[in-house]
Amino acid sequence: MLLPESVHTTKVWLNGEVKSWADCSLHIINHSLHYGSCVFEGERVYNGKIFKSLEHAERLHKSANILNMQLPFSIEQIEAAKLKLLDDNGFDNAYVRCFAWRGGEVMGISAQGASVNVAITMWEWPSYFPAELKEKGISLKTSKWRKPAPDTAPTQSKAAGLYMIGTLSKDQSVKDGYHDALMLDYRGYVAESSGANLFMVKDGKLFTPIPDCFLNGITRQTVIELAKNNGIEIEEKHILPDELMQADEIFLTGTAAEVTPVGKIDNTEFQVGEVTCRIMEAYNKLMVTI
Ligand code: PMP
Repeated sequence: MLLPESVHTTKVWLNGEVKSWADCSLHIINHSLHYGSCVFEGERVYNGKIFKSLEHAERLHKSANILNMQLPFSIEQIEAAKLKLLDDNGFDNAYVRCFAWRGGEVMGISAQGASVNVAITMWEWPSYFPAELKEKGISLKTSKWRKPAPDTAPTQSKAAGLYMIGTLSKDQSVKDGYHDALMLDYRGYVAESSGANLFMVKDGKLFTPIPDCFLNGITRQTVIELAKNNGIEIEEKHILPDELMQADEIFLTGTAAEVTPVGKIDNTEFQVGEVTCRIMEAYNKLMVTI
């Protein structure tokens, strides 16, 4: 995704100060750059309000704790900073990227003695996938890369380093003519796409994989609530690829992707059906009322 030109005129919050975009560069010697010690959040602003802002600030802290990074700003301070920056930038609808990374005081695998920095950026970003795909669904290609076991990588942290397999997977899918990758986990169960959770519909009932080795997305949790409130039965369970291919409908959920139908996985096609449309509608309705 190319950043819009307009991002260069936005304000950035960096370690407690609001700065211009141009004043926020990093030195090349930086622990995060060399060893992947960065955690981040992606959030969306709808009508001037950040959706589930507190949950995102809490997850940033949780992600950092898992990597033994002590954030120098509390959840409340991060919340206040996001609001101030939103006000300074004056956006009604935007994407927010809040992140924390280790500085360049030390260089080596051990991070002892490295500072922890926090920044918040935001820009106008209407849609992760082209808008027309919300009607006909995106295509996924099964990746050869697997989501690792929770004792192989810190899978419950939204850690930048973990995205290496997502980037490899998505880039291969796009090269092969698909929009994104379907990722299986280390056991061979269906996990998620490169950057969003997955739901399937079978006989009017919703199913979603148990998030025991990938993020339990905030949008995923919201959609589970929406399904329950709309009388749609929902079950979390391990799903094998064969079962997924027998689904009536499939969709993805994520802050960036929102609710996006899947129209094809590998060579199998899926309809954008009634349950997906009901969930999309309920989600869109919720976003205008937050
Ligand atoms: N899985 C991955 C790998 C992601 O990057 C995201 C986006 N943060 C999600 C799932 C969905 O999470 P959320 O709904 O909290 O945005």
